[in-house]
Amino acid sequence: MLPTHDVDCRYCGEFVFTSLSVDDELPAEGPTFPKVRSDKEGDYLLCPHCGHRMAMKRITTDKGVVFRTA
Ligand SMILES: [Zn+2]
Repeated sequence: MLPTHDVDCRYCGEFVFTSLSVDDELPAEGPTFPKVRSDKEGDYLLCPHCGHRMAMKRITTDKGVVFRTA
């Protein structure tokens, strides 16, 4: 069984995405996840509840490209 867990917004505490690992990782190709955007400051998610910016770090692993909460 995968060690999934929910990752909450640090600002409002609402659920943002389900991570498939213990490290708050988000697969780059996950179709049902919130879309990771990027701008000159880097990659980020917007909380669907409050719009808070969550910085994400792009990491290449042996499972493919994932994003991890920064
Ligand atoms: Zn929020």
